[in-house]
Amino acid sequence: MSALHYARPESLADAIAILEQYGPGARVLNGGTDLMVRFQKMQVTPEAIVDIKRVRDMSDAIVWDGDSVTIGARVVMTRLIRDERIRRRYPALVDAASTVGSIQIRNRATLAGNICNASPAADTVPPLLVHGATVQLVGSSGSRETPLDGFFLAPGKTARAPDELLVSITIPPHRSPYGAAFGRLTRRHGVDLASINMACAIDAERAVTFAFGAVGPTPITVKDTSGALADHTVSDAQRDAALQALIARTSPISDVRASAAYRSAMLLVIGRRVLAQAQQRRADFDARE
Ligand SMILES: Cc1cc2nc3c(=O)[nH]c(=O)nc-3n(C[C@H](O)[C@H](O)[C@H](O)COP(=O)(O)OP(=O)(O)OC[C@H]3O[C@@H](n4cnc5c(N)ncnc54)[C@H](O)[C@@H]3O)c2cc1C
Repeated sequence: MSALHYARPESLADAIAILEQYGPGARVLNGGTDLMVRFQKMQVTPEAIVDIKRVRDMSDAIVWDGDSVTIGARVVMTRLIRDERIRRRYPALVDAASTVGSIQIRNRATLAGNICNASPAADTVPPLLVHGATVQLVGSSGSRETPLDGFFLAPGKTARAPDELLVSITIPPHRSPYGAAFGRLTRRHGVDLASINMACAIDAERAVTFAFGAVGPTPITVKDTSGALADHTVSDAQRDAALQALIARTSPISDVRASAAYRSAMLLVIGRRVLAQAQQRRADFDARE
């Protein structure tokens, strides 16, 4: 077995050069809450670990440009949860980040790591998907921006090339009124991964977007443009029919956390709750601003 190379570069160029040198044999170390667990269990056996904590251009800042926000790759969940403007504008993302692990985990776990780990059950991904987030990647052939929707290819697999680093996440502005909510189901209270999770956003044009997690190999985004789900006066039967049409696009499996049938049933139950909260937040949007 060859020795593990541990690198702690201070510039983006150096980090990318090491990633390029080792190719798929290199692993990026951010907060380490996923990587180190998998490393210890020997589920990953990298040739090189590239610790990005000292890379100058990997920011831990949350930067606003008008109503658009860019979240640096080093921003941890705790920082996100405490940011007043994020709390006001993106409560669904804050709710999701607040469910990740424990206080200790949230102090280390980054939003970028939650994305790059590409777990189908990653909690912050559904809100980012319904908000239309994009990710900025930098590699040896330059930088690019790509929508988060489409970034996930399979469990643990993204469209990120081995020599690329995710440097930031951007959420575009949303026209008022806008409301979003997050919900999840776990087997127990406390630290547990989601059996299912989801986010819902209702935009100014009354389009309703849901993103579902843990009900397929990757999180999925579905949209209802009929207006039925944005209208809180429709009958329960009409609302459920519209929700079921979206849920039909998921493909839950049975595993240690839940059976496929239970997941499908709970998608409707949690979906109703999340939709109602998004409708309420949309109604309150102007008051919050
Ligand atoms: C006890 C415990 C409880 C947890 N509970 C939850 C939970 O409830 N919900 C949930 O969603 N997750 C949970 N997690 C998983 C984990 O905490 C999150 O996924 C976390 O956000 C990962 O971020 P990190 O910075 O620690 O990533 P790391 O572990 O450093 O990295 C994760 C993966 O992403 C890659 N990566 C990280 N940053 C970059 C980057 N900038 N560019 C390219 N690749 C990168 C790494 O190479 C690695 O493959 C839990 C973990 C533990 C140990």
